[in-house]
Amino acid sequence: MGQRKAPKDGDRKVGRRALLIGGAAAAAGSAVLARDELARLWWRTPGVERPRKEGEVDYGGARWVAASDANWRRADRPDDFGIDMVIVHVTQGSFDSAVKAFQDPGHKAATHYIVRQDGHVTQMIRELDVAYHAGNRDYNERSVGIEHEGFVDRPQDLTDEMYEASARLTARICARYDIPVDREHIIGHVEVPGTDHTDPGPHWDWDKYMRLVRQARTAPA
Ligand SMILES: [Zn+2]
Repeated sequence: MGQRKAPKDGDRKVGRRALLIGGAAAAAGSAVLARDELARLWWRTPGVERPRKEGEVDYGGARWVAASDANWRRADRPDDFGIDMVIVHVTQGSFDSAVKAFQDPGHKAATHYIVRQDGHVTQMIRELDVAYHAGNRDYNERSVGIEHEGFVDRPQDLTDEMYEASARLTARICARYDIPVDREHIIGHVEVPGTDHTDPGPHWDWDKYMRLVRQARTAPA
């Protein structure tokens, strides 16, 4: 697996120190300067979130439907956790049943995106946040999760439209976080250490998918 980015605790310490310096500058009569300093640094302070708008999506082609907040936790990625992985899932059910499950606080799992068999993309969790989808805390923190509508034992569920739409989405995610387009960084749920899940299953065509992601990655945005 790819190298994990170094924890950002160092940055946070610098942030706190800079805030103290900012306070001293204010005391010395440079209040405006200190305010600028604070404005630049506030988002690095633990517990302070970046502003976000309800309904905002990270991928232009996606429609927003919010997951229950019991199925993810707030974060400030990629500043608190680096993102270096996309994890591919298959829903084992219909698109509607996956949306319902992710809206259910009792489900305790959800992905950032669901791609429907007709290629429609729904985003349910912001990429800023950590979705519970890999069954592995480290992998959840460093990845974006994408569900695909279908059953692992039904190859006919894995449509060309779905592969193409998902590949465009994954290519944009890889571009955004500078993730290499390879099978160490674009993996199936089954490849997550410790998982008992088998998705995306034996019929998922990795050669085709990776070719489509590479094509989309090099195509003009
Ligand atoms: Zn899965």
